[in-house]
Amino acid sequence: MADVSLRGVKKQFGALSVIKGVDLDVKDGEFCVFVGPSGCGKSTLLRMIAGLEEISAGSLSIGGKEMTKFGPSERGVAMVFQSYALYPHMSVEENIGFGLKMTGHSKAVIAERTAAAAKMLQLEPLLKRKPGQLSGGQRQRVAIGRAIVRNPEVFLFDEPLSNLDAALRVQMRTELLKLHQDLKATMIYVTHDQVEAMTMADKIVVLSAGQIEQVGSPLELYHRPNNLFVAGFIGSPK
Ligand code: ADP
Ligand code: MG
Repeated sequence: MADVSLRGVKKQFGALSVIKGVDLDVKDGEFCVFVGPSGCGKSTLLRMIAGLEEISAGSLSIGGKEMTKFGPSERGVAMVFQSYALYPHMSVEENIGFGLKMTGHSKAVIAERTAAAAKMLQLEPLLKRKPGQLSGGQRQRVAIGRAIVRNPEVFLFDEPLSNLDAALRVQMRTELLKLHQDLKATMIYVTHDQVEAMTMADKIVVLSAGQIEQVGSPLELYHRPNNLFVAGFIGSPK
């Protein structure tokens, strides 16, 4: 089970209070979207869940286990970033398997998991190419492949589609939802795009200035926004 649970989570950068006390439960297998304006703390929150940023106060558990003392590679999470950061000199295949190689997995395991991920992401014909020979969407698939081969219980996505053009974004949304169905993993997905949030989420978390304004299903937020900020941001008529 990989519920993600935050209690009183805060983040300070020096005197700057960026996350001001967040309580949140993401259920096992849920597709949860963090949405909110630029600078409201979405990435910081995600990075704290990933273990890339220490929490200043509060507690964080994944699968019922307190995570504060665990490093990023010990949390059963994998993160996909907006900038794909692929290794330009390595093939698609090598890029996907690189993390596993670094963590000492056998060649057989790497080959097997890379093949499975490539199949799932329709990258099979591209395995020998270098990132420079791929389109934006294909590169983002490779970045997702790198996460999949680690068999995480929780996927963390930070605006993974924002570098893609509009048509490709729509296509990738569908692919990511299919992936979610296939893998049955918990997914936390950050975006500043309301349409993405409304069309993809089981649960939406609306953030503003380091705090949660409202948590609910897309329909709940649309029909019963707590306040004008949520109404305005989600685009519902309040
Ligand atoms: P979002 O992802 O919602 O756009 P971020 O989480 O990136 O927002 O940033 C939230 C706030 O925290 C911003 O004001 C940003 O400038 C600040 N911030 C983020 N990272 C750091 C850091 N390492 N040091 C200082 N301030 C930071
Ligand atoms: Mg961000």
